Amino acid sequence: MSEKKYVYFFGNGDAEGNGTMKELLGGKGAGLAEMTRAKMPVPAGFTITTEVCQLYYDNKKVYPESLKKSVEENLKRLEEVTGKKLGDPDDPLLVSVRSGAAVSMPGMMETILNLGLTDKSVEGLARKTSNRRFALDAYRRFIMMYGSTAMDIDRSKFDDAFDQIKEKMTRSRLGVADGSKVGDTDVNEEELEVVIAKQKELYKKEIKEDFPQDPIEQLWGAISAVFNSWMSAKAVTYRKVENLVGISGTAVNVMQMVFGNKGNTSGTGVCFTRDPNSGENAFYGDYLFNAQGEDVVAGIRTPMKLDEFAKEDPNAYKQLCEVRALLEKHYKDMQDMEFTVEEGTLYMLQCRTGKRLPAAAFRMAVDMVDEGLITKEEAVMRIKASDIEGIFYPAIDYKQDNLKEAFLINGIDAVPGAAAGKICFSAAKAEELAAKKEKAILVRKETSPEDVGGMHAAQGILTATGGKTSHAAVVARGWGKCCIVGCEKLVIDYEKGECSYNGITLKEGDYITLDGTRGDVYVGELRLMEAKQPEAYKRLMQWVDEIRTIQVRTNADRPEDAKIAIDHGAEGIGLCRTEHMFFNDEKRILAIREMIIADTVEGRKKALAKLLPIQTKDFEGIFKVMDGKGVTIRLIDPPLHEFVPHDKEGQQKLAESLNIGFSSVKERVEQLHEANPMLGHRGCRLAITYPEILEMQVTAIITAACNMQGKGVTVLPEIMIPLTIDHKEFTVLEKKVRAVANAVIEKAGVSLNYLVGTMIETPRAALLADKIAEHAEFFSFGTNDLTQMTLGVSRDDASKFLPDYVDEQKAGVFTADPFQSLDQEGVGLLVKSGIEKGRSSRANLKVGICGEHGGDLESVKFFCRAGMTYVSASPYRVPIARLAAAQAEIMKK
Ligand code: ADP
Ligand code: MG
Ligand code: MG
Repeated sequence: MSEKKYVYFFGNGDAEGNGTMKELLGGKGAGLAEMTRAKMPVPAGFTITTEVCQLYYDNKKVYPESLKKSVEENLKRLEEVTGKKLGDPDDPLLVSVRSGAAVSMPGMMETILNLGLTDKSVEGLARKTSNRRFALDAYRRFIMMYGSTAMDIDRSKFDDAFDQIKEKMTRSRLGVADGSKVGDTDVNEEELEVVIAKQKELYKKEIKEDFPQDPIEQLWGAISAVFNSWMSAKAVTYRKVENLVGISGTAVNVMQMVFGNKGNTSGTGVCFTRDPNSGENAFYGDYLFNAQGEDVVAGIRTPMKLDEFAKEDPNAYKQLCEVRALLEKHYKDMQDMEFTVEEGTLYMLQCRTGKRLPAAAFRMAVDMVDEGLITKEEAVMRIKASDIEGIFYPAIDYKQDNLKEAFLINGIDAVPGAAAGKICFSAAKAEELAAKKEKAILVRKETSPEDVGGMHAAQGILTATGGKTSHAAVVARGWGKCCIVGCEKLVIDYEKGECSYNGITLKEGDYITLDGTRGDVYVGELRLMEAKQPEAYKRLMQWVDEIRTIQVRTNADRPEDAKIAIDHGAEGIGLCRTEHMFFNDEKRILAIREMIIADTVEGRKKALAKLLPIQTKDFEGIFKVMDGKGVTIRLIDPPLHEFVPHDKEGQQKLAESLNIGFSSVKERVEQLHEANPMLGHRGCRLAITYPEILEMQVTAIITAACNMQGKGVTVLPEIMIPLTIDHKEFTVLEKKVRAVANAVIEKAGVSLNYLVGTMIETPRAALLADKIAEHAEFFSFGTNDLTQMTLGVSRDDASKFLPDYVDEQKAGVFTADPFQSLDQEGVGLLVKSGIEKGRSSRANLKVGICGEHGGDLESVKFFCRAGMTYVSASPYRVPIARLAAAQAEIMKK
């Protein structure tokens, strides 16, 4: 059996690895190999694979047997290629030992520079370069990095030793005034000697051993330091926060050092092949003369922009421009690169696909198509859901000074964007402020359908409980309204009209600012930046629509929302929730309450008669906006108790308004109480018990349709029955719907086409889909409820424990919250088989989805693969659904 390959060499214009091997070599190692192959100037070196990292941890921090030999062989090869030897007292090879995982984790893991310096070799380097100051500076840096990184000595102790010498010796020698800073480069040879002696002393005091003078010992110490940094607390936390799962570990890159700190024809820099902020095709970056890598990032001195660099050192700049062109041609994307210039010669130390702001992502993708660098399909594949989000939502201006002091608390980032306004603890208060054209932030323990008016009126919503699929989050997302939920530690006291955390108490009317993108809450009114969609967005979305084959609809309950959705490219309404209309004003809510409180059919019918003209008007508005587009209207869905007041005061008021006794209101509300409302008397079960509600709603829908058709509007109503569990149940209601609808149509003396279909949101409906499809003309998968019922996990309570199921260290059952991104393996199975079964009895069955998942990129891709006719997303998620549909189509090919 041939031995496993753990080490990959690069140098001299060739490499054993290449750019596709990110998993094994890490991003940095793969990039270095690829650049070497592409004949770019890269110092030689070798990469120890991420697999070694995994084995190291699996095997109690012991390396695989053959590693030592491989490293020795590769080191020998490196010495041959460079013509230098590690630890050579005359002309030493120095190396850097760098981390690099498959996914970039900026600043999370360790790098050690100038390895190979010892008391002897430092003098060799000094002679060879005729620059003793440089050699000593390199040694000082190495002792500091090795001591702090490999041996865990507090870095500030090394910094202190350096600063002391600067203060005691350099300042007085140069006569630097108090208050002015002594720079690193001001320190001279003699002083550096003292610094080195002090640092070595420090090392011995802490480690009880001398600073290692054997370069091989240094090398292994550094390699272990990099591997150990993979499991450092900050790296583990970073992966958790960024939800980086399934990465095997870090690789270790050992490569020849080049020196940017050799005087003014040397330097180091970081740049992007295009402007990552605007996306413009302009070279962008920072350069620092006479410096070594860390200095740019550490902000020790202020670097210069590239155009200044071009003036100062045109020769080096020209080399950099050549590499820039080569890189873009090679990678066909914007690259972020790290480089060093040593005495006029450029060396590339790192490259990777550069991060960019959302607007820049669109601009670059479109420009690159125009430049012939990539195809339209490639451009479409490059856009992420977050890029679309980023160009629609306003953001906090992170450049303002008082950000840190203003920070109050962090919650769950439910809907991105930012909003500032006055705290309101009730929906009514928010509406009151909005009516006065003031900005309100609704702050609640949780929200319920009763609050939608205030939620709509508010600029942003903050709740103490709930997760990303809580009522507040779902409703806010529908409007693209900034929302933070699950701020568990925020204590809200409605009675006192205040909320508090960490000793800070805020009263109703005080200003707060929400950053929904990060989930941060700030005290006071911070500066926001308005969102603007770049020209490139429109062009790219045109390509998206040309490519995709699946329809994209929207979830919209009101004409205004439907209008916004159309502007965002919606091709119909996939879900119109009728119950939200009931909360629009006092008159409606009173009528629906009267209906619920009534204890006779007659009483209910009387109340419903009041709602009929109102609902008819609502639907007319929607049909008008949706002229020529399908409109799926769902009959009443939530349990009735959600419509009635639960507090004594509210009940008393209701009793007065209805002119009945308080006790009968109270009794009725108590009757409606359910232990498990989500599994209770809701959905079409309401229509089974109270057919008169269905009658009123269908009458309103069809009357509105007839009226609008009469006005020349093309109406395509689709009546949808929620929460179906059975074909028999469905047919009972379907017959009723058709009887009512046909009567209205006949009376109007017109001809009107309409469809009757159902939601598939209970597992039973999915299992019996073939029978249901014999009668239902369309399906719409309600994946919120379907997920809840398939998992047996209440979405209202899930935020308390579901994170553990996503956390790899705890259970890692799901890679993402299944209420946000469809559980394709489990719930997806019901969706797929439901579609198959449905189409087995009705080949042309129209199938859609209208849950939260309709706006999630990966879920939409799944729905496309599963053969759905359309997906439906909230208005602001429509562009994301369009993008996902196009990406799914491209991936099919
Ligand atoms: P990070 O992953 O945190 O960016 P790097 O491994 O890229 O860390 O190292 C940080 C910096 O150290 C680099 O940007 C580069 O300037 C410098 N550096 C690393 N290796 C070398 C080398 N062989 N020669 C010169 N400088 C180096
Ligand atoms: Mg780097
Ligand atoms: Mg449902």
